Amino acid sequence: MPGLEDLYREIILDHYKNPRNRGTLEPPAVRGEGHNPLCGDEIEVFLIVKDGIVEDIKIAGQGCSISQSSASMMGVAVKGKTVENARAFIARIKHMLSIDEEGEPDTSIALGDLEALTGVVKFPVRIKCAVLSWNTLAEALDIAAE
Ligand code: ZN
Repeated sequence: MPGLEDLYREIILDHYKNPRNRGTLEPPAVRGEGHNPLCGDEIEVFLIVKDGIVEDIKIAGQGCSISQSSASMMGVAVKGKTVENARAFIARIKHMLSIDEEGEPDTSIALGDLEALTGVVKFPVRIKCAVLSWNTLAEALDIAAE
């Protein structure tokens, strides 16, 4: 992706080649599933939520480097955090990607490697790739809350 800063590209490729929290979880873990038909990206998110904490998360799927690295970074970001934290993260990322610009995101949330996704905003067609895993996480959190 020409135009993406070298550091950002490196972080994205690292997560793409060495995805964190890769795999699946058996029930009672909940499962969310997301597709981005524009690019062919597929993401599955498996969650174990206990006492309001994302105790474990595993991610499966396939697709482009942006979709898969975003998913890997997401897993690192929300594992062990509270559900509220995870939801705040989703809102922050959507705001960062210019998808949901309503309201004020909690900018005290440290983005870490996710900072690399800021460069994706320059490529509108890839924003759907970057947000796919976050939408899928939101779905899985909703299922876990039922
Ligand atoms: Zn994609």
